[in-house]
Amino acid sequence: MVNSASVSYNQALEIKNLSRSFGSKQALHDVSLPIPRGGVFGLIGANGAGKTTLIKHILGAHYAETGSVRVFGFDPVTHPVEVLSRIGYMSEDRDIPYWMRVQEIMNYTRSFFPKWDASFAEQLREMFDLDPKQRIRTLSRGQTARVCLLLALAHRPELLVLDEPSSGLDPVVRRDILAAIVQTVADEGRTVLFSSHLLDEVERLADRVAILHEGRVLLEGELDAIQESFRRITLRFEQAFSEAPSILGAIEYRGSGHEWTYVCRGDREQLIQAAKTVKAEVVHEASVSLDEIFVCSVNRA
Ligand code: ATP
Repeated sequence: MVNSASVSYNQALEIKNLSRSFGSKQALHDVSLPIPRGGVFGLIGANGAGKTTLIKHILGAHYAETGSVRVFGFDPVTHPVEVLSRIGYMSEDRDIPYWMRVQEIMNYTRSFFPKWDASFAEQLREMFDLDPKQRIRTLSRGQTARVCLLLALAHRPELLVLDEPSSGLDPVVRRDILAAIVQTVADEGRTVLFSSHLLDEVERLADRVAILHEGRVLLEGELDAIQESFRRITLRFEQAFSEAPSILGAIEYRGSGHEWTYVCRGDREQLIQAAKTVKAEVVHEASVSLDEIFVCSVNRA
């Protein structure tokens, strides 16, 4: 029998046509996402977009109502050991036993993971400035988040899944430590999937992203390619207009009279050509931030 893990896989995750409802609420609509091995994948979405629901499918906590989820080739519902032993997970709720001490939760979690790296765990504990004797319930929110991050990392998982990792972390840990950890994991050829609504953070950390909105994937791909496909372009027209003249690829616009600024999607040369055909001169061009891409995509959905 061929073990699915023995098949060479270059996808860490393969999500195909996944839909999920809770009563009348459709939390995921036909979501398809290939997530390659290696690299950092940022899952972007507003509150209620479906990020945690998607993550719960990856962990096997929800079964796929329609479609399928594969983690390193395994169905997480039918192969929980094969999947969960490869994943380091930091939940959005930071739900760990609050009555344990830091050292106790480390020992307890270690017992589930044969690949637990005790000296790395100790290094992280020191770096996060955590007292091994302190009870979890007496830790601050940020300290609890650090414990959760340590527990997710110390068995050096093939896939690190972080649900809103920045929530509760102070700016120093967020900017320096979290970024360094995520980068190290990716540099070692492992995969990071994190959800966030902090777009500057996604822009800094991720090399691939997906925008989820009301359970649907609006945009997915390499961050650089997505950003290159959008641009802000200000056009000066020969005549004044009271409404923005339509331009190929324009998603949003503002302005008045002779000058209108558009956020456009498409090949730059085609956009310039489109401007020429409506007798407009390009007076300014700029790149578009992920934040603006997100807002434009959601407004158009
Ligand atoms: P947030 O950023 O606020 O954590 P999210 O993107 O993680 O949001 P989800 O938690 O996946 O969003 O929720 C998606 C939708 O599904 C929401 O409308 C939520 O109320 C609903 N939902 C999720 N889990 C359940 C559940 N167990 N029962 C009923 N509805 C649920």
